[in-house]
Parts: sequence; structure tokens; C-alpha cells
Amino acid sequence: MTGLYIHIPFCVRKCKYCDFVSFPGMEEVFDKYLLAIVSEMKRYKGIKADTVFVGGGTPTVLDSGQLERLVGDIKNNFKLSSECEFSIEANPGTLNREKAEVLKNCGVNRISVGVQSFADNELFALGRIHSAKEAYDTVNMIYDTGIKNINIDLMTSVPHQTKESLLKNLETAFSLPVTHISAYSLMLEEGTPLLGEYQSGEFSLIDDDTDRKMFDALKTKMSENGFLRYEISNFAKAGYQSRHNINYWDAGEYIGLGLAAHSYFNGERFSNTEDMDSYLTLDFESGDRKKLSKNDMMSEFMMLGLRMTRGVSVSEFKRRFGTDIENIYGKEIKKFTELGLMEYADGYYRLSDRGLDISNQIMCEFLI
Ligand code: SF4
Repeated sequence: MTGLYIHIPFCVRKCKYCDFVSFPGMEEVFDKYLLAIVSEMKRYKGIKADTVFVGGGTPTVLDSGQLERLVGDIKNNFKLSSECEFSIEANPGTLNREKAEVLKNCGVNRISVGVQSFADNELFALGRIHSAKEAYDTVNMIYDTGIKNINIDLMTSVPHQTKESLLKNLETAFSLPVTHISAYSLMLEEGTPLLGEYQSGEFSLIDDDTDRKMFDALKTKMSENGFLRYEISNFAKAGYQSRHNINYWDAGEYIGLGLAAHSYFNGERFSNTEDMDSYLTLDFESGDRKKLSKNDMMSEFMMLGLRMTRGVSVSEFKRRFGTDIENIYGKEIKKFTELGLMEYADGYYRLSDRGLDISNQIMCEFLI
């Protein structure tokens, strides 16, 4: 299957922790940027896409007419499968009922809302543009328009967050009509204002042990409320796992359009320029292209697939690479199985719960 990702690199304001390729303001280039994306789409005209994800940045800073045109351009240039999962990212404070109805009417069937927290002091610390109430109301409003497949992103290890406030965030999340929750730990990235605040002692980070206990409590609450963990940081009600993301973790092909977007297509990895002027003058690619070797593909298959709780399929490994998984990774599988970090079930090798806790250390051993 092929996934399609479209990057909209505009935001109302930069959040304090953000190092994504996204820019505040720039309304004057929105139309030009959308035209450039259409030009890039034409390179792939007629290709079948099974999932679409419009991400950012904040795609919902676009006005309703621009959003409608963008979705129309995607449909005109790609053959979307009849069961296409069509997601768009939205931020509270930028999505109103008019935009949500336009998205629903043009076929968007999943919205991913950047909530991060339902505590105003945590949102303030992160530099988000919205309040907890706005986030809560946005989710309900989306549901009212008829889009029933809703993800929310939540963040853990946020300054001032406690176990109690995290559990309260979760209780609020469970009271909303959401089908999917992504729960990521805050990372302090180089060059962000939040890292500066941390370095000047304005807040302290919770220690690893507390962090682990909080994540354990989160996992328990998710499961008690019917959200099954299917990837390290992703939880979904039955049948609502993100097909777009599963395609990434299955090491499937995807086309990325827009500034700084990455692609894996026809066995090659390549990425777009991060320079807006170049992109607007239709000079799309960054020039770094890599044809994956068989070893690269096997490494990626393992390192991405082991992120999922179902693990990697033994038969799929053989189908793709023409050899048994044990012939290539027998030593690693034996070692991690004996340590209780890996297990076999129903044709899949997967990380155990303890293995998922230290997945980064384990996965690097699957790199050939
Ligand atoms: S809304 Fe998202 S992309 Fe935009 S600044 Fe905040 S974290 Fe970054």
C-alpha cells in the first residue's frame, strides 16, 4: 500500500518546545505554497493512495476555501482507494465549525487534534495557543459535525505535570468521543525556548523512575478504558488504529509532498528542501536520495516493526527477503527472548512489555 503525506508548515505561533519545520504567520504565501504543492502532486499523477495524512505545522490555519481546494487537488491527482483513511491535523484555536464541516463534506474522515494537555498551566508552559476548554470544545465540535474518528495527541513529562495531573488529563480524554490517543514524552530539543528555560533553571524535569511510573499508570488507564496499545506511543479503540502510521511501521511506501517532507517510494528514500523560497520556486528536492540495499530494508523492517505491539511477521519477512528471519536475526532473537525482552506469538516476533520500555537499546541491535 502507499500512503500520502502533505506537509503544511504554517502555525499561528511557535510552541516553546517545537523544532519541526513550521513557521508562524506567512499568510501571504499560503496560496502560493498550495499551488507549489499541486505542481509537486503532478509528478505522481494517477498513483493510488490508500491513506492520506495532511500534517504540519497546523493545516487548519488555512481558511475553509484553501482547505477545500487542497483536498480537491489531492483527489484530482491521486486515485484514492474507496476505503481511504483521510486524516488531517488540527489545532484547537484554528479549527471552527465552518472548516470542520468543509472537511467532512469533502471526504476527510479522521481528524488528529493537537491537545497535548487538558491542564492550563501545562499548556502555558508549552507555549500552546489554546486553553484546555478550547481543546475540549474542539473535539466535541468535530464529533458533532459527523467526523467520528478522532485522535488526540497528549504529552507526558511536561513541566509542572504530576502523576495526578496526568491522570486527570486522561480522565478528560476518556470523557470525550475519541477513538485514538497518541501519548508522547516531551523532548527538549536544541535551539528551542523551552530548553533555554530548563537550562536557566526555570523548571526541573521529573526523574526517569517517576517518568516510568507515570507512563505505567497511563498504560493501565488506557487499557481500563478500552484503548489498546498497538505501538510504543499509540493507543486505539478496537478497529481504530491509524492505518497511515501502521504503513510507516510496516516499512511500506509513502510519498511526502511539501516543504521538508520525506518519501520512501520505488525503493528509494528522498526528502524535500527545507528552504521555503526554493520550494515556492518549484525546486522541491533536497538532493539527498538513497536507494535502499537489502540490508537497509531488513534493518528498517525490524526496527520499525518492533515498535508495534504485534511485532514483525515471520511470513512477511520471508516474502520480502526470501529467507527466514532466524537466518538473519537468530542471534538477536535468541538473546532478547532469553532476557524476557522479546517473545513469539501467532507468527510474530514482538517486544515484551519490558522490551518496549527499552526499545531504543534493543532496536539498534537489529541494524545490519
Ligand atoms: S502547533 Fe505543532 S508544529 Fe506548530 S509550533 Fe506548535 S508543535 Fe510546532
